[in-house]
Amino acid sequence: MVDDPGVRPGPLTPTATPEDGRTDSSLRPRRLEGYFGQDRIKESLRISIEAARQREEPLDHLLFHGPPGLGKTTLAMIVAAEMGVSIRITSGPAIERAGDLASLLTSLQAGDVLFIDEIHRLALPVEEVLYPAMEDFSVDIMLGKGPKARDVRLKLNRFTLVGATTRYALVSQPLRDRFGAAYRMEFYDQASLEHIVTRSAEVLNCRIVPDGVSEIARRSRGTARVANRLLRRVRDFAEVRADGVVTSEVASRALEQLQIDELGLDQMDRDLLRVMAERFGGGPVGLETLAAAISEEADTIMDVYEPYLLKIGFLQRTPRGRVLGRPAYDHLGLDATTRSAQATLFEARAFEDATFEDVPE
Ligand code: ADP
Repeated sequence: MVDDPGVRPGPLTPTATPEDGRTDSSLRPRRLEGYFGQDRIKESLRISIEAARQREEPLDHLLFHGPPGLGKTTLAMIVAAEMGVSIRITSGPAIERAGDLASLLTSLQAGDVLFIDEIHRLALPVEEVLYPAMEDFSVDIMLGKGPKARDVRLKLNRFTLVGATTRYALVSQPLRDRFGAAYRMEFYDQASLEHIVTRSAEVLNCRIVPDGVSEIARRSRGTARVANRLLRRVRDFAEVRADGVVTSEVASRALEQLQIDELGLDQMDRDLLRVMAERFGGGPVGLETLAAAISEEADTIMDVYEPYLLKIGFLQRTPRGRVLGRPAYDHLGLDATTRSAQATLFEARAFEDATFEDVPE
């Protein structure tokens, strides 16, 4: 995920900060075997990659979707490495004009991977260049100007487009239809996060004991990038305030100092939950109203804070707005008797099948 100036970076922000940018590249696993978790996706990719290699054809276009920091960019790079081809990396907002994309596409070599992060943010005229490129490996470009202008169709080398998005719902249907497969990235479980922290500690030459690994993994809100970032913060603390070894006790002290609680929630999460309970009776409250109440951008709440709170049942997204879940009251020691009747009703109906991506706003 590219750096987003709209996001105030905190220790738990899953979008990349400039510091992450520097270490992300050294901590990125290069091959599938170093990429932990996401087993279902990996298995499916292994099969597609092997089949494509046997046929000596490029891989089908792929779309990865899910919250920031779960490893979409890393996986795109791994796909290219496993296919033995080069990768070009760009993002939706970076491609301003149709012509920019056309020249990028014509520069691709046979088999190359083109990675477009935040693909839901492509401008429509740019997106329209992608349709024939993905389908027929061709682009239409306009030569000349005025009455002499004419459309020329250029043939492209066969390539693989890998798109990534935090907002699957905002990817247009014609674009979705042109991907051979769409994969939804999952939050990481404790065991996968422990693998990620252990591997990163090795790369960073950080001395850490298994209890220290578990403590960091537990507070990483299911997100690989957060796990790596907490490891770096805890390592600093261990070097300055302890003997350099990350134990569970050192990790706890460091994370407490960063105001990260046992579930990995930070002050911003807690403010959001508290405001919902104390000012809105636990909801339902509209996203914009909530954003105004905590002086945060609605997009940031939706992309950065909500996904994990939804995952652990602290929030629910309903057609009438956000509702605070019962576990949030217990965790923050809030008075659940102040809950609105509607909030209780919504929870009783339990939007269990709904995911954070497909319940309407
Ligand atoms: P996204 O593109 O989804 O925002 P990235 O691919 O940039 O996320 O991953 C963020 C960081 O997390 C990278 O530094 C990478 O090293 C690490 N990471 C992500 N997924 C994994 C994984 N499955 N195993 C190990 N490290 C991972």
